[in-house]
Amino acid sequence: MKRAFVVGHPIAHSRSPLIHNHWLGVHGIAGSYERLDVAPDAFADFMRALPGSGYAGGNVTIPHKEAAFRLADVLTPRAERIGAVNTLVVGPDGQVQGDNTDAPGFIAHLDQSLGADWPERTGGSTLVLGAGGAARAVVVGLAERGLGRILIVNRTPERAAALVALAPGVARAVAWDALPDLLPGTGLLVNTTSLGMAGHPPLALDLGPLPGRAAVADIVYAPLETPLLAAARARGLAAVDGLGMLLHQAVPGFAAWFGLRPAVTEDLRARIVADLRPA
Ligand code: NAP
Repeated sequence: MKRAFVVGHPIAHSRSPLIHNHWLGVHGIAGSYERLDVAPDAFADFMRALPGSGYAGGNVTIPHKEAAFRLADVLTPRAERIGAVNTLVVGPDGQVQGDNTDAPGFIAHLDQSLGADWPERTGGSTLVLGAGGAARAVVVGLAERGLGRILIVNRTPERAAALVALAPGVARAVAWDALPDLLPGTGLLVNTTSLGMAGHPPLALDLGPLPGRAAVADIVYAPLETPLLAAARARGLAAVDGLGMLLHQAVPGFAAWFGLRPAVTEDLRARIVADLRPA
């Protein structure tokens, strides 16, 4: 029986067990996927013990993504580029490989939601709001997808400037107060800040100047319908929520641990939506 995990601290909130146990059930695989709460001072020991633990690998979440990046035996080029690891795979030789599947997860969800021709249809620049950990994966994903012009805007401008190196020649950092002037030339607007998340203020941005062909994506998924997405829909723009990124980032890990590439279906999505709904 193959076993995998999600490790974080705290970990009770993680929806990953719901996702992976759904796939194990659908495909009749005799495996398990468990939540592991490991404090930061115990994480290095956890990583060292992984090869003999019986786990095929697992997901890594807050606050361990950077530590997993430092402690993995080998990194995929994408994890190396992003500087964080969210997926671990224990190889047959006992080596622990660190990958980052947030970037392809974000892009797979955009492609599924908007259709594969969205870069041509939406036109213009891609505007990324935020420059935290998730923004690194989003910028790398967009650059890998071939987007030619990525503008990054962040409250702390130095962090936006630091992200430019992830997509040289394509990404550029722009000041927050330039936003109203940037919107008319924007094809895709992506919120990667925590604004709009439950317990945080909404993202206050007038979407009026966006062109009618533009799309708006928010990677916040709690709540599923953020004020930003509601405003985009009210304007008749295509709106892409954050849940799909969470579902799609799980696919490569499951494939590596359990030997089968699962699908992100409406049924799976409905299960997670039901779980996200406040009691
Ligand atoms: P993070 O590293 O802490 O970054 C937070 C970002 O939000 C920074 O750019 C920060 O700007 C900005 N921010 C926070 N408060 C702000 C405010 N009041 N005004 C303007 N900007 C503000 O967090 P993260 O890991 O990147 O996660 C960000 C969000 O993405 C969270 O809501 C998380 O749940 C979500 N997320 C979703 C997925 C998914 O699968 N859908 C995956 C990962 C993360 P400064 O640099 O100026 O502080």
